[in-house]
Amino acid sequence: MSTVCAVSTPLAVGGISVIRISGGDALSIAGRVFFPFGEKKVEKMQGYTCAYGEVKDKEGRVADDAILTVFRAPHSYTGEDIAEISCHGGIYVTKKIYRIILEAGAEPAGAGEFTKRAFLNGKLSLTQAEAVADTISAEGEYALSSAELTKKGRLFKSIEAISESLVKSLGELAAWVDYPDEDIPEVDERELMASLKSSKAALEKLLRDYDSGIVFKSGIDTVIAGKPNVGKSTLMNLLLGFERSIVTDIAGTTRDVIEETARLGAVTLKLSDTAGIHRTDDTVEKLGVALALDRLEKCRLMIAVFDISSPLDDEDRELLEKLKEPGRKCIIVLNKTDKAQNVDKTGFESYCKNVVAISAAEGEGREELTDMIEGLFTPEDYDPDSTIFANERQKLCAEKALGCINEAITALGSGLTLDAVTVTIDRAAEHLFELTGQRAADAVVNEVFSKFCVGK
Ligand code: GDP
Repeated sequence: MSTVCAVSTPLAVGGISVIRISGGDALSIAGRVFFPFGEKKVEKMQGYTCAYGEVKDKEGRVADDAILTVFRAPHSYTGEDIAEISCHGGIYVTKKIYRIILEAGAEPAGAGEFTKRAFLNGKLSLTQAEAVADTISAEGEYALSSAELTKKGRLFKSIEAISESLVKSLGELAAWVDYPDEDIPEVDERELMASLKSSKAALEKLLRDYDSGIVFKSGIDTVIAGKPNVGKSTLMNLLLGFERSIVTDIAGTTRDVIEETARLGAVTLKLSDTAGIHRTDDTVEKLGVALALDRLEKCRLMIAVFDISSPLDDEDRELLEKLKEPGRKCIIVLNKTDKAQNVDKTGFESYCKNVVAISAAEGEGREELTDMIEGLFTPEDYDPDSTIFANERQKLCAEKALGCINEAITALGSGLTLDAVTVTIDRAAEHLFELTGQRAADAVVNEVFSKFCVGK
């Protein structure tokens, strides 16, 4: 494999930049560009040691003074020899050193190439490699801790336990199907059925956890709904903690959907402040209303806002009816408590039991509202310690495996030949091997790593 190089820190001004070289020639290339002060020779350096020195170009001109860190195969991130140069964190100097290293014989690394090499050298499973990308992109505590568990191999072990049980069944079936004349004990169909059912249950649990886990990893899709001027934008700004939506007194100001991410304790909300859901003849506004309705259909949390300083009208009542629709969690926000109240607060609970009165403008009731949101999604809904799939690719593999296991169960139950059962169990195991990368096609591996950034 070639020796590759990339800047592993962001290309922005900072304290230091790290340029990483990995491959069989990493140390000889480093030796051509990095010159330690004192007696040290780069190619003689032990793993896990550093040297202070200068980076020089072909003509011997000094580009920067820097630290070289050496990792020896197989005890490195990629499993190959690695040389890392930590130089001053200027964009120009970083690019210059990167060019000097390429001129000395390294090739530019592709997206995720270091992690891909770690995977190909058996340092990481595919699920662990994907968790590395998740750690980098994690935006909240749940996302980070879930990536951490996967990096430690939790998901891999759960899947491996299922695939091992399938492979064990396959072994018994194969012996019996292939050598019918030998004195091999007959396959105990009841035992086989029990083992398939336990694999099915394990996969179903992982798939269920994914659905609740994903809202914590990527945020809860939340819509703030209500007719114009009830205070949706003001509420959104309150939750975000800064001014983003345009707040004015003219009805219909918020015409398109504004999306922001708000972090409330452990929970991340993906908030859309939509054009009020109301009847309108204005073409542009109509589009906004259609968009708002679409968001409403798909969201997991709807915060319905009412202005209690003026009596409820038909539009408010329509929104209340929407709260009864299943499939999402709801909160009723009674806004403008700082003004004289014209609405009877009782009665709202028959539409949704989560009711909170606030003054979005004055920030009153914010804590009660955020506690309510956190309480709605934690803890009974989700165990942060459960193993969850990191992405749709993994989920899809698990779904396919589950489909095959279900087929095998049906085949076994309806007395089909054991050949037919064997084929479906074999396919289920293949899908799980693809999930962990134990037997993934090159195309799958390339697709996974193409989503990484260069330098990782
Ligand atoms: P939206 O159309 O639902 O997004 O409503 P806005 O957030 O734009 O608010 C409409 C008007 O109501 C603005 O003048 C806000 O300042 C005002 N408003 C919002 N919340 C409150 C509140 O809690 N109390 C009072 N008194 N006024 C509010």
